[in-house]
Parts: sequence; structure tokens; C-alpha cells
Amino acid sequence: MQDQFNSLEIMRGHECPNLSSLTTFELGTKPKYYAKACSVDRAIAIAKWTSQENIPLWVVGGGSNLLCDDQHLEGLVLQIALEGLEWEADAKNEDVTVTLGAGVVWHDFVEESVKRGLAGVECLVGIPGWAGAAPIQNIGAYGQSLSDTCSEVYVYDLEEDQLAWWSASQCDFAYRQSHFKKHLGRYLILAIKLKLKIGAKPTLNYPQVIETITKNGYDLNTLDLEQVSTTIKSLRSQKSMFWQSTDPNRRSAGSFFMNPLISGKQVETLRQNCQSLGLDTPPLWPSEQSNTYKVPAAWLIEQSGIDKGFRYKNVGVSSKHCLALVSHDQGDFEDILDLAQHIQKRVWATFGISLLPEIRILSSELTHKLSQPRARVALVTCQNLPKWEVDDHPLWAALVAQDIELFTPAWDEPDFDWSSCDLVIPRTTWDYQDRWSEFLQWMRHVNRVSQLLNPLSLMEWNLDKRYLKELAIEQPPTHWLEQQTLTNQELQEHVESLIQVCQAKGWLQGFLKPTIAASAVGTLRFDLDQVQAKEQIKKHLQEWLPKRNMILQPYVKEVESLGECSLIYFKGEFSHAVRKVPVSGDYRVQDDYGASDMPWSAPLDWQKRCEYMLKQLKVMPLYARCDFLTNPQGEPWLIELELIEPSLFFRHDLESPTRFAQCIVDSCRERLLKSIET
Ligand SMILES: Cc1cc2nc3c(=O)[nH]c(=O)nc-3n(C[C@H](O)[C@H](O)[C@H](O)COP(=O)(O)OP(=O)(O)OC[C@H]3O[C@@H](n4cnc5c(N)ncnc54)[C@H](O)[C@@H]3O)c2cc1C
Repeated sequence: MQDQFNSLEIMRGHECPNLSSLTTFELGTKPKYYAKACSVDRAIAIAKWTSQENIPLWVVGGGSNLLCDDQHLEGLVLQIALEGLEWEADAKNEDVTVTLGAGVVWHDFVEESVKRGLAGVECLVGIPGWAGAAPIQNIGAYGQSLSDTCSEVYVYDLEEDQLAWWSASQCDFAYRQSHFKKHLGRYLILAIKLKLKIGAKPTLNYPQVIETITKNGYDLNTLDLEQVSTTIKSLRSQKSMFWQSTDPNRRSAGSFFMNPLISGKQVETLRQNCQSLGLDTPPLWPSEQSNTYKVPAAWLIEQSGIDKGFRYKNVGVSSKHCLALVSHDQGDFEDILDLAQHIQKRVWATFGISLLPEIRILSSELTHKLSQPRARVALVTCQNLPKWEVDDHPLWAALVAQDIELFTPAWDEPDFDWSSCDLVIPRTTWDYQDRWSEFLQWMRHVNRVSQLLNPLSLMEWNLDKRYLKELAIEQPPTHWLEQQTLTNQELQEHVESLIQVCQAKGWLQGFLKPTIAASAVGTLRFDLDQVQAKEQIKKHLQEWLPKRNMILQPYVKEVESLGECSLIYFKGEFSHAVRKVPVSGDYRVQDDYGASDMPWSAPLDWQKRCEYMLKQLKVMPLYARCDFLTNPQGEPWLIELELIEPSLFFRHDLESPTRFAQCIVDSCRERLLKSIET
């Protein structure tokens, strides 16, 4: 290693330059190794050496798109500074192919092209950095991108040990994206070829440029390249996006975040968000990728409440442009990351849109704050959930698609850190019925350290079916039985009195159930005209009354044919409905008993009843399932309002997971916004 190391003339430790002197952010430390390559052979030899020695490789150019760790940087920083600029006109004298070494200063090249009357890069004037980095993020500005003119890229592939000219299509250019950016560290870019047009008109498709040019009195028909590039330079200067050593905003890497690309559906949500916030319609323009739109990140940042000039410790937002973060005197790497994360959270909390960094972070830390998803949500389950229970899986996918980091712990998992979650939602916690006081303790704990949804007060209230007494909605006639331990004699009397209740009300069949239970556990159907009825009731009460309050209702025979219907609501809005039908002769509608379920079109008046009922609650629940039986007159009778862990039957409405995920995301955003504001 030593011989090769010496022959490659690699700097080590204190010999290395401090990266603060090689980057426009002026932040950084001395890396472990540093080398500058002015030839193809040297660049490749050094890259190969790092790979043989298993040393991390950081390829850099002019350092204008980098944020470097200022404490410690493992690995080798390779600055590719190959020179060379060749201009070659084609036979017809229409195009000039320019070959640029990776180390050519981009802005100088653009100025020279404009001077020579070559069109194609005039709008890219003033972008700092070197030619070798230009394909990485397919640099672009004011209506032009590198990909408009780039015909080939000279690439060394470290993994395959191959040196070749790549065609533009191989580079997979897109908005601030390329094949190389997706595989940072694998490729060295050694040169690029651009095809420029001789004597062609300048590109003029950026509204602000057209407006300024018109204001300056230039004639749009006779406009030349020089006039366009001069206009753009002055626009860039006004925004501190034209690097100048005297500019107080100069210590930056230009745009810190990319303009987000959003789908048509997200555009709708964004418009609604803006409306509810009293904001104007956001500026949007179609992106090169089909069915997506670009939203200016600067607009999102500003409208989320972060103004130009915002300061955080010794760093801040540029006083001229919201998208550039700047380091002031004594500013540091960690503070820039904190500020960037704060901005990401704020924009996400306000608009539900994620900002992704445009800059490259050079740090030995494997993960850094900016790559973390926007919120952490726990959908809580139980230890022995059967493998076939997958109804929530589409919800998981919908949440992950919304940048949510998802956890699915059991509620009694001892080591799970509930405080690390932004939101905790009981979903399939179906083993708590026999441990409900323990479950209650757990809910109270979670509520202290995180946000529990539905709200704790609603779930506590909903644990015991006695909540039904408080709801103004049609229900089966009900007789309430207090939990108690009775002597044999007292029990006998109790049974007699229940029989009398049934007879007085004219019920031929009765139905008993505990006020805390699930899945038809503890239920009894009995026929009053059968001799064994009294004995059945007595036995049932003997078992259940000492541990639970109970309910006595008429048995609704219609359940056997019409089943039980459930209407599902998210944040008070009807989502979908299902019908659950028991096997012949049974009344139990759970799939554990062989019942089947199917999508169901809920009549409007049933929906209205639910909405009326939900409005009676102190807080609107995030999710609710309203379970009904059909009474002998064909009218709905509410038998349960499920607010803790109902099955939500996502399988019967493919859009429903997305609807629920959106409500969850909105709740996370509300919470985040509150925490940012306090
Ligand atoms: C004031 C200001 C304004 C800016 N305006 C714009 C703008 O309008 N549009 C725009 O697109 N960008 C803009 N930028 C960002 C930046 O200038 C560009 O991304 C530029 O192309 C970076 O070039 P660089 O040589 O400085 O690359 P560096 O910052 O050194 O590196 C950038 C990335 O390229 C990789 N890289 C560099 N050289 C090579 C190579 N030879 N082979 C392989 N990988 C390499 C690095 O690993 C890194 O990932 C601006 C920056 C500043 C400071």
C-alpha cells in the first residue's frame, strides 16, 4: 500500500487542504486523504486505490454544491481538475461540438460560448462550479438544462473498471437528476461534449426573463445571446445566486432544496391546503416527467412562515432568496443541518410536501437528519395476530408512500419507545379484552409521551358499551345489568326478573352480552319459550356478571339474513361501508365464525344518522365504525360505535387506505406545526 500511496502523491492528514477552502459554503475540515487529478490516468489510478484499500471516495469539483462535515471526514477527497476546451464545427457549419475537461470553470465556458455566438447554454450563465459536475444533477436554470445540449459524457465506472463515452440517453437525465446522481461514488466524470448551435436564437421561455427583457426595452425579435445572458446575470445577482466574493450571502451552495415534483392529485390537495390557509394559488408548472408538476420550493418555504434573512444561531436563510441557506461567521455544519431539517418539517407540516436536498452532503455519518422521513407513526397490534390478518397492509403502503416511517409494535411490547412516535394508533390490539385495565394503563402512558389517536378521552369512553346510553340515535331497546356477585338464590331471582322484562316487552327471544368484550365473546341468545332458557341465562350470568356489566336486548332475528352493516368514517367523513353476514342460523358476524363480508352501498339516510351521531361526540374521531342491525321494520338500529380498534375493511374499498393515510398525515402535520410553533 505504502509504495503505491507514495507514487500517487496523495496527501494525508494535516497535509490536506481544509475543505472549507474548497467549497462555497466555506465549511469543512481536513479529510483523511486528499488528491487532485489533472489527468485521466491519475484520476483512475487514485479511484482504484481507494477501492482496493476499501477507503470511501468523495469526488468533488468546484465545491459549489457541497455541504461538508466540519468535525471529521473519513476517506479520500478526489478533486477532478482536468483541463481542456475544444471547439469543433460540423461540416455544414451549423453546430459546434465543444469538449470540456471536467475541471473547466462552467461560467467562463458559457461566457465564451455567448461571445462566439453559440446558442444552447446562455441561460446557464452564472452557475458556479466545474464542467465535470454539470451532468451530476443535470444543472439547469431559467428554462435551460445541461441535457438540452449535452451529447456525450466521458465516464470511468469504478465498479466495472470501464472507461467510455456515454450517450446522453445512457445518462438518464431528468430534473436535477441523472444516472450518476443515483449512484454517487461509482463514476468519475472526466469530460463532457455539448452541441451548440451557430447563430441560433437564444432560449426564451422563462417568464421572469421575458418580463425583464421586455422591461429593459430589448426587442424580442432581434434579441441576441449576450442580451439574454446579461439579463440573467443581473437577475441572479439580485437573488445572490451569482457568486461574488463581497456578497454577504455568498457562503452557500445555491438552492439547498430541489423544487418538489408533485402529482395531479397532490396539486388538488395543495390547492385545498392553500385555500384553508388563505393563501393564493401556488405557482406550478408542468415538469418534464409526465403527469407531474413542479412547485417552487422557495414559495413553499416562504409561505410556511420562513422569511428571507431568517437566522438560526450563526446560519440562516439568504436575505435575497428563500432557497439558499447561508453560513455566517462562526456558522457550522450541524447548524445548517438543523436549519434545513426545521425548514423541511415546517413545509411538510404546512403543505404535506417533502423537500429533498439538492446539495450533496459529505459526511462519514451514515445517516443524517435530512434523509429522515417526515413523521413516525405506530399502527399498534398484538403479539399473536394471525398471519392471515392483512387487511391493514394497504394502509401501511399508503402511509409509506406519504413519507411516513411506520412501526407496527404490539401494545404490550416492553421495549418499544412510544415517545419516539409522532402518532400512535391502536389497530389490531385484539387481545386486550381480558386485560383491559392493563390496556388502559398503556393508553394513558402513550398519551403522556406521544399523541394517541383516537383521543384518549374518546377511547376510554368507548371501552365500555355503556357509552351507548349517551348517544341520541335509534338503538335496540336495552335493559342494563350491573356487574355483581350474587348468591344462588339472588341469581335465581335475577333470572326471573329478566324473564319478566322480556315478557313485558313482548320479546320472544332475548340476547345477553357484556359491556366490555369483542368478537361476540360472552354473548347468549335464548328463546323464552324453551324450557332450558332459565337455566341458560342463570349459567351465563353466573359466569359473566361477577366480572362485567351486561346488556339485555331483544334478539334481532334479521341479523341472520341481512347481517350487520358497518359504516366507516375518517375525520367525520363517510368513507365506505360493508355488510357482514353470518353462516346460516348463526348471529356472529366475525370471520372467526365463518361469516362473510362484502362491500355495501350504505343508504344516504343511514349515513346522515351516523353523521348526526358523530357530531354529538366531544371530539371528532380520526376513525369510527358505526355498526347497525336492521330491525323488524327495516330501520337501522345502532348496536356499536367502534372507536378503538375496529377492522376497517380496507379490502372492500381500494381508495380507502389512501383516504385514511391522508387523515393520519394531516394529524401528524397538525401536531408538528403545533410543536414547531411552541
Ligand atoms: C450561488 C450558487 C448558485 C447556483 N445556481 C445553480 C443553478 O442555477 N442551477 C444549478 O443546477 N445549480 C446551481 N448551483 C449549484 C452548483 O453550482 C452546481 O450543481 C454545479 O454543477 C456544481 O459544480 P461543482 O464543480 O462545484 O461540483 P461540486 O459541488 O464539487 O460537486 C457536486 C456533485 O458532483 C459530484 N462531482 C463533482 N465533480 C465530479 C466529477 N468530475 N465526477 C463525478 N462526480 C463529480 C460531487 O461528488 C457532488 O455530488 C449553484 C450554486 C451556488 C453556490
